[in-house]
Amino acid sequence: MPDPNGFLRYERQLPARRPVAVRITDWREVYPPAGAELIREQATRCMDCGIPFCHDGCPLGNRIPDWNDLVRTGNWDAAVESLHATNNFPEFTGRLCPAPCEAACVLGLGGQQPVTIKQVEVEIADAAVARGGLNPHPVPASTGRSVAVVGSGPAGLAAAQQLARAGHAVTVYERDDAIGGLLRYGIPDFKLEKQHIDRRVAQLAAEGVQFRTGVNIGVDVTAEELRGRHDAVLLACGALQGRDTPETPGRPLRGVHQAMTHLVAANRVVAAAGDGRPAPAVLPDGTPIDAAGRHVVIIGGGDTAADCLGVAHRQGAAGVHQLDLYPEPPHGRDAERDPWPTWPWVLRNYPAHEEGGDRVFAVAVQEFVDDGTGQVKGVRIAEVTVERRDGRRVVTALPGSERELPADLVLLAIGFEGTEEQPLLAQFGVTRNARGAVDARPDWQTDADGVFVAGDMHRGASLIVWAIAEGRAAAAAIHSYLGGIGTLPAPVDPARQPLAAR
Ligand SMILES: Cc1cc2nc3c(=O)[nH]c(=O)nc-3n(C[C@H](O)[C@H](O)[C@H](O)COP(=O)(O)OP(=O)(O)OC[C@H]3O[C@@H](n4cnc5c(N)ncnc54)[C@H](O)[C@@H]3O)c2cc1C
Ligand code: SF4
Repeated sequence: MPDPNGFLRYERQLPARRPVAVRITDWREVYPPAGAELIREQATRCMDCGIPFCHDGCPLGNRIPDWNDLVRTGNWDAAVESLHATNNFPEFTGRLCPAPCEAACVLGLGGQQPVTIKQVEVEIADAAVARGGLNPHPVPASTGRSVAVVGSGPAGLAAAQQLARAGHAVTVYERDDAIGGLLRYGIPDFKLEKQHIDRRVAQLAAEGVQFRTGVNIGVDVTAEELRGRHDAVLLACGALQGRDTPETPGRPLRGVHQAMTHLVAANRVVAAAGDGRPAPAVLPDGTPIDAAGRHVVIIGGGDTAADCLGVAHRQGAAGVHQLDLYPEPPHGRDAERDPWPTWPWVLRNYPAHEEGGDRVFAVAVQEFVDDGTGQVKGVRIAEVTVERRDGRRVVTALPGSERELPADLVLLAIGFEGTEEQPLLAQFGVTRNARGAVDARPDWQTDADGVFVAGDMHRGASLIVWAIAEGRAAAAAIHSYLGGIGTLPAPVDPARQPLAAR
């Protein structure tokens, strides 16, 4: 019987992050493992609510109160099993998810701090590794049917594992040189060390999944060839079309880049260097894109911007400004605007923010300033107000508020415009909608029969937890399309949206 008063005895507490002065000299994860006693106390704060709203917050439908209680009682093997029943890769979500489940935790209703669900999750996931819980699952007799998965991010990998475990022959095609999608070269090691991906890839390979890296579907292998080889295709190509600002004067200057250009270059250096202090990051053509000794301006306020901030400090930036168009959000939930249990608009402080840099809110870039040689030397900004008029965003600069910030490196982290326009789309006869995403029918098929879609490619730039949920659900649909016996779990349908007040 769970402890109904645990939250009265124990305060919410996370493990202490590694000291800033130490962690910015390396690329290791920010959080050390939590002590067993701390995690037991935190799991004890869960009331095992009769109606656990954390479930509704989580697209995977994770059995949160169950595994909290199993951790409280020290039943770790059962906790590992319960967690994996709904989530293929809890070590990814436990480290990286913004945790909509915590925003929906019932403790938040009464003014209490929510249960540290995500931290309990990551400790169970790591316990699985320590206890051999990542051993490959036994795979049933082959169904004789074969599936191609295009893209090896969390959506593609979750689908591949589900389908292989149902007896289908699965091949994952990835155009990059390594498996993992954005987890591999988008997200820096200080948030997710890459051995976590490698372990899962080894598990999937042992379960029969074939991996083909360096294969760009639509270029190296045509859609027709792929359809000839397999009975069904899942497209999980992500939403990697970065938003740009071509109208801003000075955009073509050297030193102004898409954030992902910087992150991928930096993460590749870390991948090549292991744990050591990496060499400077460069683009494939040799252009340096390293922040060392430079004044960096990051434009944008989300995950990508925070990742650029952490990378810039580890590379030894002289100074960093992070600019946001919108005013500083409130520090706590505004119940009028975002009532519990919805996801609130609040100031989000990532660990990267305590490592330095200046956040500047309610400003817009007016010009990237030329040093006279075609290299950026500054960013001219103005204070702005942002309003919605007739459904459109109207940004108004305040007269006389302009100033210049020094900038040798400018990184655009202003969002994504859906999946990339690439040959594969036309070859499969699939089109991008107004959001740049690919629509799915209720059974996850695109306009092309036998071609399914999942993850960011379908949803638009989103979260790992949604990618895994969609990958699992699309796998269930493919299993049924192939005439597989029984059903696979489908936690979401293509129309499912996050919890919202209206
Ligand atoms: C910098 C950054 C930080 C983020 N941080 C977080 C975070 O902390 N928490 C969180 O929950 N989410 C985060 N996200 C979002 C999260 O990474 C994505 O929502 C998730 O990775 C989407 O998974 P996916 O499988 O749909 O696609 P992706 O991970 O984008 O993978 C798509 C893969 O498809 C491959 N591909 C594309 N076209 C082809 C082709 N023609 N042939 C072969 N392969 C192809 C690509 O190379 C890529 O590897 C972050 C995103 C970014 C950009
Ligand atoms: S809502 Fe919070 S307290 Fe209730 S079961 Fe979920 S984690 Fe536990």
